[in-house]
Amino acid sequence: MFETLSAPNEMAPRGGLVPPPSVEPFTAPPLAPDDKRKRLIALDNNEVRGCTRCRLCETRTNTVFGEGDPDAKIFFIGEGPGENEDLKGRPFVGRAGELLDKMIAGMGLKREQVFIANIVKCRPPNNRVPMPDEVATCTPYLERQLEIVRPKVIVTLGLPSLKYMMNDPKLTMGRSRGQWREWRGIKLMPTFHPAYVLRQYTDETRAAVWSDLKQVLTELKLPIPKRGGSGG
Ligand code: URA
Repeated sequence: MFETLSAPNEMAPRGGLVPPPSVEPFTAPPLAPDDKRKRLIALDNNEVRGCTRCRLCETRTNTVFGEGDPDAKIFFIGEGPGENEDLKGRPFVGRAGELLDKMIAGMGLKREQVFIANIVKCRPPNNRVPMPDEVATCTPYLERQLEIVRPKVIVTLGLPSLKYMMNDPKLTMGRSRGQWREWRGIKLMPTFHPAYVLRQYTDETRAAVWSDLKQVLTELKLPIPKRGGSGG
């Protein structure tokens, strides 16, 4: 899967209008898994890899489309690629990624069973938070990924992805995490970003993340492993 989503590409068209974020539930029937896979590969190859729609293309090494099961029930959304991700062209492969892998394993799942992407597909220089115009330009890609995969649950990692998905810049993590929300008819669980958990590696933070992830498992009627947690 990871290889096929990383196949060589053609250049994407320049410019283009950015559609506003939609809040309508999906109406078209869901696609078959093979169709999902093909459409994701086409989106990556034909549009994302050659994208020059914002200034981030000037400093990136690789675009980071996202990866995972095209038919995933859970779709994790981070902020943007960091240095390791930029170099490898894959999401969450640095220290935060190691912790995300542990969070997923704690849920009794494999990384290959979920989908992982970011709100922007290119690394913001020095890992700064993506600027509003960069987010506005890039997020139609994320929305199309979500439309194709159509997961049962979205998990936002950190505040920028939550604010974007809820179209609410005033949200705070303290009041939002652990509370179900909805995006286009899909349930959305906000939780802490793994990089934040690494910085605040306390029992309290880890218990909070585990509690959020347990809610996701309950929603999906998946078994809750005895000893889950965000990073052991
Ligand atoms: N942080 C993110 O938000 N995304 C990544 O892909 C890596 C680190």
